[in-house]
Amino acid sequence: MSERRQRTAPSERDRPPEAARKGSARPSSRTGGDGPPVPDLIPPRPTIASVREAAQGCRACDLYKRGTQTVFGEGPRRAQVMLVGEQPGDAEDVAGHPFVGPAGRLLDRALEEAGIDRGLVYVTNVVKHFKWEPRGKRRIHAKPNAAEITACRPWLETEIVLVKPRILVCLGATAAQALLGRAFKVSQQRGRFVSSSLAPLVTATVHPSSILRAPDDAARHLEMTRFVADLKKVAAELE
Ligand code: SF4
Repeated sequence: MSERRQRTAPSERDRPPEAARKGSARPSSRTGGDGPPVPDLIPPRPTIASVREAAQGCRACDLYKRGTQTVFGEGPRRAQVMLVGEQPGDAEDVAGHPFVGPAGRLLDRALEEAGIDRGLVYVTNVVKHFKWEPRGKRRIHAKPNAAEITACRPWLETEIVLVKPRILVCLGATAAQALLGRAFKVSQQRGRFVSSSLAPLVTATVHPSSILRAPDDAARHLEMTRFVADLKKVAAELE
């Protein structure tokens, strides 16, 4: 049987943008936010530009207190491919753009090797603020919790509704489990297309930062090869 599966559920991408405003989960008090929930911030008849602007003032969870700024997704408004990571990193937090740090540069190389034009890809994250813990003078990545992911999710849902990607790729376990369910195991299910209402074709692979954390050059090379192989499956589906 082909790895490619047909979607069976009504598509998230076919929902009117207003649905993301009204139908999404509201932040729980555990997020510590002191602003309105995200659905209340999404403008009527949203566009990517107006939603990006609205997200700049988001205080729906307490991550806004730690991050420098909201880092919203970027890419063509009708991108065929949307890549979804976990959250902006240190460099992205400072620059205000997604995937511009070391992991982003590795992603650029992998996309090129896979034959995917980065300029045709929309890149974003499930959480739009950098969550970090101090370690000396450094800011160390901290994993967002379920309440923070839930609070932020309507921004991503709105991006998906507006961009309508044909192929959605989750990068790493946080994105995959947020979008495909907590039972999803990237280590076992990476590189396969799965049935989802998010887009006609949905798949997952590792986050490029995990390749940077490989223990040595040999492991890094192997992981990069596997990452590019997963992205080549995406490239094969491009129209
Ligand atoms: S992480 Fe998301 S929900 Fe939380 S403040 Fe930032 S943009 Fe808003």
